[in-house]
Amino acid sequence: MSKVEVYYRDSEPEPGVSLRIIDHSATVGDLLEAWQPLCDDETLFKSFAKGNHSMCRGCAINCCNTAYVIPDIISFKKMANDLQLSYDEFLRGYFHKEKLALGLPRMKPDPCIFLQNNICTIYPLRSLICRFYVCTQLSGPVEQFIYSLTWTGITATILFAEQKGLLKTQAGLGMSSLDILFKGLIEEYRDNPNVQHFINAEEYSDIPLLPFIDSYTQELLTPKL
Ligand code: SF4
Ligand code: SF4
Repeated sequence: MSKVEVYYRDSEPEPGVSLRIIDHSATVGDLLEAWQPLCDDETLFKSFAKGNHSMCRGCAINCCNTAYVIPDIISFKKMANDLQLSYDEFLRGYFHKEKLALGLPRMKPDPCIFLQNNICTIYPLRSLICRFYVCTQLSGPVEQFIYSLTWTGITATILFAEQKGLLKTQAGLGMSSLDILFKGLIEEYRDNPNVQHFINAEEYSDIPLLPFIDSYTQELLTPKL
């Protein structure tokens, strides 16, 4: 039996994609497994999909054309290893130079460096921000929960890169509104103890979901604590 269930609910007070954590030992890996069918679901209403109903695979509008992707640490390490690059070589070759100078490891965009013929060429290794984004309505607690997981994982990448001396931030550079927002989020998550769950993990299946539940997302647990 699945440890996490993802389903669509169209009733108030929280319409949209919802989820239940059925087994409290569930991990980020279990959540990703349960989440993946949303990407492949042609019945789900997707704001930017062809006819509002199509699989994400091969999508012509494709959010990957404009996405601002900072990978979480699990994906960051896996992508570098897959390319047989050191972390430094990976950052220099595949990330946006100006954003790196701001301390923001954004993958080369417009379109994403890994997008070819509307297909992600590193799909099994893509980061949480890519996996969780589906242009459909999410319930409030689900949105908050995946947001927290994603930004914790991204902050782990930043701390890891800083500790290794890989991010050399230059002062006095101009920042876009998104840069400022993302910088603020990273500062907000920097001291969150859950960052260590990502730093200590090799796989998503090493990261428990339970520590990421707070009073607002408590309703995702079945049974409740
Ligand atoms: S989430 Fe992205 S890839 Fe999927 S339908 Fe929407 S725009 Fe297309
Ligand atoms: S890594 Fe893959 S899924 Fe993520 S933005 Fe790039 S092409 Fe899209």
